[in-house]
Amino acid sequence: MLLQTLREEVLDANLELARRGLVLYTFGNVSGISRADGLVVIKPSGVAYEEMRPEHLVVTDLDGKIVEGTLRPSSDLPTHLVLYGAIPDIGGVAHTHSDYATAWAQARRPVPCFGTTHADYFHGPVPVTGILSDAEIASEYEKNTGHAIVRALRDTEGGHTPGILVANHGPFAWGRDARAAAQNAAILESIARMAYLTLAIDEAANPIGKGLHDKHFLRKHGANAYYGQKKD
Ligand SMILES: [Zn+2]
Repeated sequence: MLLQTLREEVLDANLELARRGLVLYTFGNVSGISRADGLVVIKPSGVAYEEMRPEHLVVTDLDGKIVEGTLRPSSDLPTHLVLYGAIPDIGGVAHTHSDYATAWAQARRPVPCFGTTHADYFHGPVPVTGILSDAEIASEYEKNTGHAIVRALRDTEGGHTPGILVANHGPFAWGRDARAAAQNAAILESIARMAYLTLAIDEAANPIGKGLHDKHFLRKHGANAYYGQKKD
């Protein structure tokens, strides 16, 4: 079986989504990439988390062609592939419909940065994509979702973000590997919840000041951040 270690990593990252309460039933998906092999390992479509085994995962090439696996890959595979192509340093992508992050995505509102928990991971508000046109939805919807994410990243001031909200859909997160991607999906849900609660306490709450935001973000990520938008 190809990529045994990566399969196990990606399986564990998928199970982490379930352990953290970020997914219901078969919702959500995590993938990991071996850039050396030009191969991606992704969750199969429609298999319950509790039944998932390494051999159920699907190995594809960077065009989405199945290289090994008898099950269909997650239908979101084309979105993952666009992200791997656009953000060169990432090794894993995670997608959930976790409640609070999805609520912000449905409201099409960026998550403001109200505190240092957020600032430790996201430099600026969590961005939201634009909406897809009917033509983008009708044809190659999942690939176009990836392109909408890349466009939003390029428009984002401040740069580094390990996740984003897809308008009217939900969060995608990424990281240096599948485990980091799942962790960033969990962190994104947590800060989305905290921001909601902050606004519930004080709807006029002010975002964190630039000095404190930069201090927290830059001390963690600084010059050698692993992920962010492609600089070109
Ligand atoms: Zn989804």
